This record gives sequence, C-alpha cells and structure tokens, in this order.
Amino acid sequence: MSVIYLDNNATTEIDPQVLESILPYLKSEYGNPSGMYTFAGKLKRDLDKARSQVAALINASAEEIIFTSCGTESDNTALVSALETYPEKRHIVTTRVEHSAILNMCKHLSRKGYAITFLPVDREGMIDLDELADSVTPSTAVVSIMYANNETGVVYPIEQIAQIVKSKGVLFHTDAVQAVGKLPVDMNKIPVDMLSLSGHKLHAPKGIGVLYIRKGTRFQPYIIGGHQEDGRRGGTENVASIVGLGTACEIAAKYMNHENTEVRRLRDKLENTLLSKISSSMLNGHKLSRLPNTTNISFEFIEGEAILLLLDEHRICASSGSACTSGSIEPSHVLRAMGVPFTAAHGSIRFSLSRYTTEQEIDKVIELLPPIVNRLRQMSPFWHEQASQLSS
Ligand SMILES: *Cc1c(COP(=O)(O)O)cnc(C)c1O
Repeated sequence: MSVIYLDNNATTEIDPQVLESILPYLKSEYGNPSGMYTFAGKLKRDLDKARSQVAALINASAEEIIFTSCGTESDNTALVSALETYPEKRHIVTTRVEHSAILNMCKHLSRKGYAITFLPVDREGMIDLDELADSVTPSTAVVSIMYANNETGVVYPIEQIAQIVKSKGVLFHTDAVQAVGKLPVDMNKIPVDMLSLSGHKLHAPKGIGVLYIRKGTRFQPYIIGGHQEDGRRGGTENVASIVGLGTACEIAAKYMNHENTEVRRLRDKLENTLLSKISSSMLNGHKLSRLPNTTNISFEFIEGEAILLLLDEHRICASSGSACTSGSIEPSHVLRAMGVPFTAAHGSIRFSLSRYTTEQEIDKVIELLPPIVNRLRQMSPFWHEQASQLSS
C-alpha cells in the first residue's frame, strides 16, 4: 500500500529535479564558498544563481535575499532585528493565529517586557483592518502578519495590510512560508519590508529558509558570526540546500498555474464531497480567500486524533487541528481564536494537497472517510447525546 500524502502544509516531498541539483554538492563540490581558490569560486557563483532564482519567484532583487536555516529562524530574525534597530520602540503587532515561530517568539518578548498586540480573528479566520490600523502606534517597532495560515489556508489581504502599516511609517514583516510557491507573491507590488519563506514547504529540503529584506530597510543580524550573506547572517552557507531551494523556486513558478487550477480542483472536489456526504461537518476558514491546496474540515462530536489513526491504517496522512499537550487534547490556537465550537474544534482535520496529489488518491479518501466518521460517531457519547436531544 503506498502512502497517500495529504499533509503538504507540514512538509513536502523533494522534487526529483531538486534532488538532482543538490547531489553534486554532497559529493565532489564540497568546498567552502569563502575559499580563495577556483574550487570555491564556482560555489560562489552557484550561490549567486540560487539567490537570483529565489528572488525571481517573489519579484525581488538578489541582494534582498538572505539564506537562513529555516522559516522559524527567518521569523525570529525579522522580529528581533526590528526591535534592535528601533530600540526606542517596544511594541509589536501580530495576530492570534500566527505560526508558533512568531507566536512563541512574541510571548517570549512579552516576558522580556515588550508590549505585544495579538489581533483577534473572526469566525472565518480574518482580521479586521480597522482594528489593525488602530493598533499601530508611534511606539510600534514592527507589524508581523502571516500571508497565509498553515492550518486553515486563509489568505490575508497582504497588499492592503502592508499599505496600512506603511502609511503609519512602521516596519512590516510577513510570514509567507505557506504562500510562496502556491500563490504569486510580488515584492514589487506589495510594500513588505521583510518576508520569510522556507524550503521544505515548496519541495526543497528541510533546514533551509530565506529572509527577504527590502533594500534600505534597517537590519541587525540575529545569528552573529562570519561575514557570510554580506554580513547579515553568520555561518558557512548550506550550499547544497541553497542550490536545491533555487531549483525549487524556479520549478514552483512553472507550476503556479497548475497549483491554482488542478490542485484547487482536487481540493474542491475533496472538500465539497466530504461536506455533502458527511452530516454535521463544517469548513473552518474563509471559503474564498484561501490557499488552493488546503481544506480544514470539522467532523463534529468525534476526535480528530481518532480519525487520523483510522486513516493511517490506509496509509493516508493528514493532520488534526488539535495538539496533544501534556496528556490532554487541546484544540489548536487557530481554531480557538476563530471561535470554532468545542465539539467541532476537536474533530477537525486538515488536508493539504500538492502537485503530486492524484485524482485516485482524492477518490480513495472520499470513499474511506465517511464510514470512518460513522464508525467513530457510533462510539461517541457526544454524538448520541445530540441525537437524542434532536429527537426529543
Ligand atoms: C512551516 C512553517 C514555519 C516554519 O518553517 P520551518 O522551516 O519549519 O522552521 C513558519 N511559518 C509557517 C506559516 C509555516 O507553515
């Protein structure tokens, strides 16, 4: 039985062409790009090429790209740099639905005495732009709002958000880890100051990230060391992964249309069929402003974890909107922030597709999931309780 992998927002399969491009750097091309000899000179040029390939995907210029170790490092770097370059400003604005790379860094900074505004979201996961505008003050060092949410796929109106923040003269950072490669992202059009992306979410390896820093933006390194990345990030370059990410970015541009037509069609088929075949199920997130590959559905009165276990018996990989923290199952912070009712938040499942997802795989899930949900509901006291309430 082969794996049906529908957890592409967690990580993705490395594209075979990406793998091919990486291999020489794990074998013969092992030099340190800082070396003064010809053997290293080629590596310098290869890094430059990768930098241009990444820049091209987001319509930026190569000097605005620095390579980091992951999306988390890029996110951390953006926030800390903003605070260090504007030391008199001790306030950050973000949202309640960010990835833990932003959320937990903000909580950490809050314990250190910084003021953090966590903007709420509505039932569809959207923020209120007036509330955003009101929250930015002269003491705000940076506003950080994600481009697209990893759990629900909700896409934020980043162009409008960036314009609001820039009209107040404040730095704007966006975590675009889920957006880059799935949506056209254009730094020429959107006045973002800093943007994070991560290799393993777009068919490159794990352990490589990028921070885009707009030309002219004040910046302080977070990883302090050698002169690599033009003095903006210490540490010997991860040449193999950087080259792989460059290749992945070039391929992503070619698949952009496919992502928004074919992948979207399969996602819609999965979503619409499950919602119509399974009673007491509901979509979490905005119906329209959403990544083409993501659907997050609640199956009320049962546990997402139980669904995942039964799907796993068929080697189907998805993820649930809750996390088992210290023995008790807690609904995700994203669904809680959206006010998803308790009985629905617990039974939420995220399916995230990729360009490798096939129609047969989607049909298989459509066939297998309804009986799984039925079976679990037959064992669920919550289900029987609401059924008896309805009939009385
Ligand atoms: C995966 C992810 C990250 C973290 O990226 P890593 O490279 O795994 O550190 C940050 N933000 C979002 C939205 C993500 O989905």
